[in-house]
Amino acid sequence: MKAVLFEQFGQPPKVQTVAEPAPAPGGVVIKVEATGLCRSDWHGWMGHDADITLPHVPGHELAGVVVAAGRQVTRWKAGDRVTVPFVGGCGRCFECTSGNHQVCEHQFQPGFTAWGSFAEYVAVDFADTNLVRLPDSMDFVTAASLGCRFITSFRAVVDQGRVKPGEWVAVHGCGGVGLSAIMIAAASGANAIAIDLSDEKLDFARKMGAVATINASRETDVVGAVRELTAGGAHLSLDALGHPATCYNSIANLRRRGRHVQVGLMLGDHADPRIPMGKVIAHELEILGSHGMQAFRYEAMMQMIEAGKLAPQLLVGKHISLDDAPAALMAMDRFEGLGISVVTRF
Ligand SMILES: [Zn+2]
Ligand SMILES: [Zn+2]
Repeated sequence: MKAVLFEQFGQPPKVQTVAEPAPAPGGVVIKVEATGLCRSDWHGWMGHDADITLPHVPGHELAGVVVAAGRQVTRWKAGDRVTVPFVGGCGRCFECTSGNHQVCEHQFQPGFTAWGSFAEYVAVDFADTNLVRLPDSMDFVTAASLGCRFITSFRAVVDQGRVKPGEWVAVHGCGGVGLSAIMIAAASGANAIAIDLSDEKLDFARKMGAVATINASRETDVVGAVRELTAGGAHLSLDALGHPATCYNSIANLRRRGRHVQVGLMLGDHADPRIPMGKVIAHELEILGSHGMQAFRYEAMMQMIEAGKLAPQLLVGKHISLDDAPAALMAMDRFEGLGISVVTRF
């Protein structure tokens, strides 16, 4: 089969012919119909992810059709249309059995802990626990666009953030995660405030449902601006970018007993940001992390999509071919487009 493969970190990946995968006893092989590109793929290619061993095939935002299932698989068979969250739980550890597959101790991540979906076929382990059936109405491109940013935002806003109708939700950073979070907050009946450095992204955030926007390249006091718009501070605030400045602002702009959710990754020098801990205590603020979403929580999200309350397809940008994927992957640190690129031709 064709696959995008790299043999050294930072060296150009190439489309090559490799052996087709076989399913693990509890896994399946999926014929990939669509797979999204993500900055995490770029980090993996650069050698920033300790889970990756060489040579490697990236790709973790996928949808397709099951073509083979291992002998222990009971819920899936050839022909099923499926997607998977980017973190797959083992189904057996303490976290999985308590319903928290997104922080599984033995997690399976296609494109990180195993070869991924920039290929004609991908093997996915722990299939009974992690596969998600696609509604008939959902195309593969939309399904592939859910697997990383959109589910992460859904869990951050709905499950970790516990958003309620009428609340003010501040979203710092309007990339894919932030725009998804704004759509989800608005669909939940909350008032979303979008904060970014780019007017283009803020205009798009309004189309996704933001009721107010703040351009942080012109507004020197972002925290004050949020507090003024919300008459005292946001109930829920997200750092959707992953930067010490947006993390600080997201906590500092909360009202009393507000909730901050850290969604953007904090890597390298950013791993230990400054936090206004005095305010966390005095105002009983909550600081939460959010990391992917369990497969069983897709149902609530799929119902909102089928009802037309959420429209993740609006966040899809270009459709590209597998042959285009190596160049697109290498450019992911620079690419600042509005929609995600999805490989749809193999
Ligand atoms: Zn991703
Ligand atoms: Zn587990």
